[in-house]
Amino acid sequence: MFPANIIYDVIVIGLGAMGSATVYQLSKTNLKVLGIDRYFPPHIWGSSHGESRITRQTIGEDERYIPLVRESNKIWKALEKESGQALFYKSGGYLLGHENSNMLFHNTEDFIARLVELANKHNIKYTTKTADDIRQEIPMLQIPSDTIGFYEPDAGVLYPEKIIAAFLKLAEKNGTSFLWNDKVTDWYTEDGLIHIKTDLEHFVTKKAIFTTGPWIQDFLPTDLKPKVKVYKQEMFWFKPAFRPEGKPEDGYAIGADAFPWIIWVGKNLDEFRTFFPTTKDGTKGIKFMTEQYVEEVHPDKTHYFITDEQVQAVYEKFVHTSIKGITSECLKREVCFYTVTKDARFLMDFHPDCKSVLFASPCSGHGFKHSAAIGKLLANNIQKEDGIFDWGLMG
Ligand SMILES: Cc1cc2nc3c(=O)[nH]c(=O)nc-3n(C[C@H](O)[C@H](O)[C@H](O)COP(=O)(O)OP(=O)(O)OC[C@H]3O[C@@H](n4cnc5c(N)ncnc54)[C@H](O)[C@@H]3O)c2cc1C
Repeated sequence: MFPANIIYDVIVIGLGAMGSATVYQLSKTNLKVLGIDRYFPPHIWGSSHGESRITRQTIGEDERYIPLVRESNKIWKALEKESGQALFYKSGGYLLGHENSNMLFHNTEDFIARLVELANKHNIKYTTKTADDIRQEIPMLQIPSDTIGFYEPDAGVLYPEKIIAAFLKLAEKNGTSFLWNDKVTDWYTEDGLIHIKTDLEHFVTKKAIFTTGPWIQDFLPTDLKPKVKVYKQEMFWFKPAFRPEGKPEDGYAIGADAFPWIIWVGKNLDEFRTFFPTTKDGTKGIKFMTEQYVEEVHPDKTHYFITDEQVQAVYEKFVHTSIKGITSECLKREVCFYTVTKDARFLMDFHPDCKSVLFASPCSGHGFKHSAAIGKLLANNIQKEDGIFDWGLMG
């Protein structure tokens, strides 16, 4: 299948959110590119599945990422045209917190205050909300009276599986080669070239990019491995009983047309919860998730099932107490992985001993919204020779 003695210009290993965006950008150059994935993306074994990903422009986690989300939005708009399908829904989004609490989210304290500061500085539309405003706008929410909110009207949800599939399809059309369902097991350099070994094949390339998501530790140099930790997260889709205005369930209740995303930062992580709107062609339920940073795993050494008892416990503790009109019937449940750095930021750089190899784990639970621009950054950087990672998006 693969002609012998080919020397690729770039091999991209791992074709989820980051890798698919990268091969798409590389496919627009004259470079000879190969993409390899151990599965056939989009799939449910990594970090980029679950029908929806929140996007917002106020990146309270790190101001440097605001140009990334803005550039990503432009790339996705163009991708919608090129692929002929909707990839984003502008639902608006609320970040909720409590007055006089530290509002810690993704390692940033006072998150709402930070969002207000950034929105003013970067000219992003927003409104701050009192508990009464929120109750009026989303009557089904059961919030305490010390709740405060930040609303971004242009925020919304992205459709991760559709985006990954679209990037890969267009890259293939532009001439990129792919190897699916084969796992990279090792790599080494010899005579200035990089050798990539898989379970079944052996490739030679001038440059390589590792975007293996929650498997990134398998390829990081030993001293960088402790910089990332992988935590298993769970997603649940609960069936709604009523539309917010009180109409009976109609199979598409509380749809994307009637519900924003809600990130609800509690007084501590144990109270944290996120609700996602139903997406147009997706499971007809409200998607719900918490975050946990206790059980550290490797994706090959953990189970992927969620028991009925776990579903019930989550429903009782979080869903039932937060929103009126959502039944305990769980339509779908999935496991997904956060790959997290200590400061909840992104890890993207050249290999310390090899300037022809890039690693990127831009995740920490909030990477998807930036992934299209990160693909462009990685594609730009791999074409440089100086081994200094450049965050500029030009070129
Ligand atoms: C539950 C959940 C909710 C999230 N919500 C949001 C959100 O609302 N907004 C947001 O911006 N971000 C969110 N994130 C974060 C975001 O989804 C991730 O940052 C992003 O999807 C990570 O993409 P990735 O390409 O790094 O990893 P992946 O998409 O997992 O891709 C890695 C790929 O590498 C392949 N691979 C691994 N090892 C090998 C190997 N040895 N050989 C070949 N291939 C290999 C895998 O098969 C996989 O396809 C969320 C994450 C989770 C888990």
